[in-house]
Amino acid sequence: MNAPNHDILIVGGGGAGLRAAIAAVQADESISVGLVSKVYPMRSHTVSAEGGSAGVIRDDKEDSLDLHAFDTIKGSDFLADQDVVEAFVKEAAEELIQLEHWGCPWSRDPDGRISVRAFGGMSVERTLYAADKTGFHMLHALFQTSLQFDRIHRYDEWYVTKLLLNDEGAAAGVAAINVRSGAIHAIPAKAVIVCTGGGGRIFPFTTNAAIKTGDGMSMAYQAGCPLKDMEFVQYHPTGLPGTGILMTEASRGEGGYLINNKGDRYLSEYLPGKMELGPRDMVSRAFVHEEKAGRVFDGPYGTYVHLDLRHLGEKKIDERIPFVRELTKNYVGIDPVYEPVPVRPVVHYMMGGIHTDINAATPIPGLYAAGETACATINGANRLGSNSLSELLVFGKRAGEHAVQTARETKMPSYSSLEHMAVDEEERIEKQLFKNEGTERIADIRTDLQTTMDAGAGIYREEESLKATCEEIPRLKERYARVKVDDSSSVFNTELTAALELGSLLDVAEAVAHSALLRKESRGSHSRDDFEERDDENFLKHSLAYRDADGGDPRIDYLDVVITRWQPEERKY
Ligand SMILES: Cc1cc2nc3c(=O)[nH]c(=O)nc-3n(C[C@H](O)[C@H](O)[C@H](O)COP(=O)(O)OP(=O)(O)OC[C@H]3O[C@@H](n4cnc5c(N)ncnc54)[C@H](O)[C@@H]3O)c2cc1C
Repeated sequence: MNAPNHDILIVGGGGAGLRAAIAAVQADESISVGLVSKVYPMRSHTVSAEGGSAGVIRDDKEDSLDLHAFDTIKGSDFLADQDVVEAFVKEAAEELIQLEHWGCPWSRDPDGRISVRAFGGMSVERTLYAADKTGFHMLHALFQTSLQFDRIHRYDEWYVTKLLLNDEGAAAGVAAINVRSGAIHAIPAKAVIVCTGGGGRIFPFTTNAAIKTGDGMSMAYQAGCPLKDMEFVQYHPTGLPGTGILMTEASRGEGGYLINNKGDRYLSEYLPGKMELGPRDMVSRAFVHEEKAGRVFDGPYGTYVHLDLRHLGEKKIDERIPFVRELTKNYVGIDPVYEPVPVRPVVHYMMGGIHTDINAATPIPGLYAAGETACATINGANRLGSNSLSELLVFGKRAGEHAVQTARETKMPSYSSLEHMAVDEEERIEKQLFKNEGTERIADIRTDLQTTMDAGAGIYREEESLKATCEEIPRLKERYARVKVDDSSSVFNTELTAALELGSLLDVAEAVAHSALLRKESRGSHSRDDFEERDDENFLKHSLAYRDADGGDPRIDYLDVVITRWQPEERKY
């Protein structure tokens, strides 16, 4: 089949992808957009976001754009680009009101104003929410708005395997498998926007959905684009042991306590000024210290502490965090109105991603990226909770609008110029995954990858364990070359997509481990036992991981951080 072409092709139907699509068709009446998503858009991970989205919208909270910017920059341990953060906080507030106009049902105070709640590392209450199903409502508002435009053509359940570049090295479209038929197609476009979300599945214990395998990061990396600040992986302090299901930070924003096995609110020792509302990196590290001191509980799924919500009372729990009650009842058989909930730190978010500038443009002409897959960078070494839903709106919009400018200046690549690339891709997949006589299993390699990432690149890291992880990944890549997909059917071949996703995980893990090995300091979420201090002299820089075309270790380069008004200072709460 000769798939139609589109001025702009967006990979990903989550919050960032949908926001980019709407921005593009609104910016130009003649633009056509192709929106490709490996799952139906409403199943994207954005749907599971609970706690809220940050922005300065209330004039009675002693808040300001500068304060939101400063909180974000301090939270990032001064690694955020400050010009980008300044644009972000301004546009975040505008975007949240825009979303209200598109039908997002923000929770409201009795006087009718939009409610805001406290979130970790934010100086004042500025996180908007729709109970504790914020992502669901935001995604719904974006999805239904996108349906108004027949120039947004969706490819639901199509899996993109490769970015296609023209002879000049500019983005020219993608190769994608129609998962329903198994056929692979080239889809030409004048500009491509990658909005494929994060890759938390490189770790064994994560809040991230099974689809979060870093495909877009891998595609960009394979195409020669660097991945920025990949060593910074966020642990969320409160996941359910066993499943990793998130107990939203809103449960602490609404007043929940973290209690150790001595019955103490132990954060008074680590974050006396902020207690449970400290930033995620510091609250997660406090757990590890409590564990070392023997002040945690032991359970069938490892150690844990208690999240105590009982003092909030049934009414507040049902009104503000009903999903927390639903999840704990269903998954651990505990009603938080009467009993404390077991929690432990869990991998949640990747601060790093595809290197972009303030307009979501990557170094590859015509290629843009936005949302969790991108690194613009506002999150630096540690993201503040509730900034990423706002981020996907702001940078999704910027990506859509700037891709329109590129599309206006670019000629549509011919289908015939790309067709052979899709044929090559089909042959590669056929040869590598179906015709191979190997006996390796996808699940075994994935488990071994997650184990080595956990051992080497977890909450605390050091030279020896990181080196071991860096040495293990090439061995896993060799084993990956011997994976055979047994299911030869073409319709919904989920074994094939799992095999392709494993390839993405290996690329992402490689970039994380090598960037972490070379960053010989502790900053934000990156805590080295062997380099405990932040080192601004040598490492007030972004890392850039470039894939080695010959299959060797990635090359790590560095880029200066943009400082506008806030000089780095010690990060204390
Ligand atoms: C449980 C949970 C709760 C969270 N709560 C909050 C919160 O309260 N506040 C906050 O700010 N942040 C929160 N976050 C983080 C935030 O939700 C995410 O960072 C954000 O939603 C990511 O949006 P996105 O559009 O970048 O990607 P996603 O929503 O993950 O969408 C990715 C899209 O890419 C598509 N895709 C991926 N690979 C391919 C491929 N190979 N081919 C085709 N399509 C592909 C997928 O189909 C999907 O449509 C939470 C995250 C989790 C996991």
